[in-house]
Formats: sequence, structure tokens, C-alpha cells
Amino acid sequence: MNTNSSSFQPKDVDLSRKLCEIFQKLHEFWGPQNWWPAETKFEMVVGAILTQNTSWSSVEKAISNLKKANILSIEGILQTPDQILAQLIRPTGYYNQKAKRLKDFCSFLKNEFNSDLQKLFSLEIPELREKLLSQKGIGYETADSIILYGAEKPIFVVDAYTKRLFFRLGLIQSETISYNDLQMLIMTNIKHDTYLFNEFHALIVKHCKQLCVKKNTKCNMCCLKHLCAYYVQNTFTDNKNGTE
Ligand code: SF4
Repeated sequence: MNTNSSSFQPKDVDLSRKLCEIFQKLHEFWGPQNWWPAETKFEMVVGAILTQNTSWSSVEKAISNLKKANILSIEGILQTPDQILAQLIRPTGYYNQKAKRLKDFCSFLKNEFNSDLQKLFSLEIPELREKLLSQKGIGYETADSIILYGAEKPIFVVDAYTKRLFFRLGLIQSETISYNDLQMLIMTNIKHDTYLFNEFHALIVKHCKQLCVKKNTKCNMCCLKHLCAYYVQNTFTDNKNGTE
């Protein structure tokens, strides 16, 4: 699949095995995450746009406001004055900008897909991704989240948590790896399966929020420590320092 990366990467059997093991361990440890938490596909898309640079709890408040105002629909959003829409989604921050993005996205759905989200979702992944990325304010992570959790098509969603975890596990050299290069690396070495990608991304987020946090990692409780370069290195350093 073309993910806009210029570098071709051959399959790496060792990495494939590690990715499978990481997924299995996380799945056994945390259980199924059953993302995306939304009642409809449209709500899912709205959530994906609103969740940029904010917490999920803020998105939940904004979605709840849109529901209470009875405007959580393409027409509802298009017909709501900008300032009122912005106030309803205020909990998510950048609310004026996000209100415009929501309206722009709804106009795009109306004009190009006759307000039918399923028509957009029926496109093949490369075309669907291109269409989504052509919308201002929709970047790789948002586009791929919509493809995976909205259109239910197999694409791996990368985020800062993925980069942190895979760097600590020793699977990548640096957290500065580009979005598309990391996505390509993973997708070259793992089965393309919507359920697998859905759960894997959700489990990485869960794991990094709960245990593999930025500072003060909770490595002793971690189900991945036997696979983790960061853990091995720090344990070795601690032991060495303890005997000196
Ligand atoms: S052992 Fe520590 S650093 Fe490694 S994945 Fe687990 S929590 Fe993260």
C-alpha cells in the first residue's frame, strides 16, 4: 500500500515476530479495547477532528454538547452559526479553528458525496486517504483514524505513543522517525487486518497512558519488559551502579 513513503522496506521476519508478540502480550494484559467510542460513524469522524491536541474527556464533553443541541449531523453543523458551534465545542480548545474545520468537512461531504459518509468510506484506502488529507486540518493521524475506525479499513494509526513505545522497545532508532516511515515499517511486517490494527493502536494508547508514561515509567508492572531494550538497559545500569 502506498503510504507516501519513498523508502521500500523488505519484510523483516524478526520484527514481524516481535510485533505479533507485543500485540498478544498487550491484548492478554489489557483485554480488548473495542474502539472507537461513538454511537455513529459521523460521531466518530467528529470525534477524530475534535481530539487533535486535547484529551478524550474534553471531546466527550463537546460531543455531548452537540447532541444536546441536536446538531450532531452534517446539516445540523452546517446550519449552526459559527460562534454557537464554537461555544459548543469549546471544551476541546482551539474551538474557533475546530468549528471551521468541522464545517469545512461537512461541506466537503455534502458537495462531493451528497452528504453520504458511506460513499466516502467506499473508496479504496489510497484514494480515501488522499481525499481526507486534502481537507485542511486533517493530518495523517486523523485521516488514518477515520479510515480505520470509521471506514473500518486496515491502516495502522501512528501517534506519539507508538513512537515512544516502539523506541523504548528498541524497534526504531529514534522517536523522530516520520509518521509514514513508521507506518510503512509496521505495515510491511504485520498482517493487514482491521481488527488487529484497531486493537493494536488502542492498546498502545492504553499502555502508554497507564504504564509506559513519559517520565517515571512503571516498568515493573509491564507485560513487555522481557522484550524491552529500555528496561534491560536501565536494569543493567541499576545493577551495575548497585555493585559499585
Ligand atoms: S518495560 Fe518500561 S519502558 Fe519498556 S515498554 Fe514497559 S513500561 Fe515501557
